[in-house]
Amino acid sequence: GYDFSERIGRVEPSATLAISNLAAEKEAEGADIVDLSVGEPDFDTPENVVAAGKDALDAGHTGYTSSNGVPELKAAIAEKLRGNGVDADADEVIVTPGGKQALYETFQTLIDGGDGSHPSPSGTSSHAGDEVVLLDPAWVSYEAMAKLAGADLSRVDLAPHGFQLEPALDDLAETVSDDTELLVVNSPSNPTGAVFSEAALEGVRDLAVEHDVAVIADEIYERIVYDAEHVSLASLDGMADRTVTVNGFSKAYSMTGWRLGYLHATDEFVDEAGKLHSHSVSCATNFVQRAGIEALENTEESVEEMRAAFESRRDLLVDLFDEHGVDVDVGDGAFYMMIPVADDDQAWCEAAIEEAAVACVPGSAFNAPGYARISYAASEERLREAVDRLVANDLL
Ligand code: PLP
Repeated sequence: GYDFSERIGRVEPSATLAISNLAAEKEAEGADIVDLSVGEPDFDTPENVVAAGKDALDAGHTGYTSSNGVPELKAAIAEKLRGNGVDADADEVIVTPGGKQALYETFQTLIDGGDGSHPSPSGTSSHAGDEVVLLDPAWVSYEAMAKLAGADLSRVDLAPHGFQLEPALDDLAETVSDDTELLVVNSPSNPTGAVFSEAALEGVRDLAVEHDVAVIADEIYERIVYDAEHVSLASLDGMADRTVTVNGFSKAYSMTGWRLGYLHATDEFVDEAGKLHSHSVSCATNFVQRAGIEALENTEESVEEMRAAFESRRDLLVDLFDEHGVDVDVGDGAFYMMIPVADDDQAWCEAAIEEAAVACVPGSAFNAPGYARISYAASEERLREAVDRLVANDLL
């Protein structure tokens, strides 16, 4: 038989799985489920991007590319990042099959693992892994990736601060120390939709510089912002040589299944991470990379249409929850919100799907018990239907 690694035993399958399995089961039985558990935009990929992908296939762009990506795409990404105030060069970019792979490579490149027994059972010696600091509620995969790399996790809870980082800077200062290797910042945030203020990011910068900490800036939702301005961490003084900026095409251009993302960091970082990249994925898909150039250069209108649709859905949900007396800390970006539910959020989500035929993700999945994450990547009609059903079943 198989003798599984200690490493793979450290992680659980995605906690959202139980709910989506249940939703799929119900649908197979013919139930009409309003699925608000999904993490992908409900729009088609813009037509010109699809056309660019087809043209690239017809033109025979079907072989490997240079490992770090097609030069024209890397150049377009660098130019895009310069628009964010980041001093970026094409050579400082690795193009990946999705932002997720960029994150995975980053953890593997920076984190030294412990022996898996930290804190040590008394009497045995153990050594700790590098410390990674997460801001809760945190997207599920950060924890899994950190654990796969052997990190020890420290967490700062933003829930008591309306999911905002600025009021939690004192807590962060108590957590980040000279022992911290890496801090993960995700703004706009999945699962809260929070967009962190420039002052908050400056606070992060001050701590990172003081304690010589590297920071992942996961900016994958940056194009989906409402009454706030997205600030790139790497654009702040002192952050250029300690930030890994991760971004991707899934959310901004509704390209989840294309699998395209990237990271930007220093030359030295790219040299090191590039080793893992070349020995694991070789490169991102050739014709997909060509479509990515079109997405970066020619989609202003489509991106704005999607952004505006998300904004009116968010506003609709805020009004609906308000009508029913549900007090939500609403974010200014992404397409998620965390609504306060019962102490046992897992049980609440099961009841929501069993009784109201509405699927959402328990907050516990993001280390935020007592909440449920609602994705509003669904039509306004379905959002109204979901709230009606929850109310009718006394779940709100
Ligand atoms: N980062 C966050 C916060 C996400 O929510 C996601 C997708 O759900 C990703 C990264 C990765 O997206 P992809 O691998 O599709 O680029």
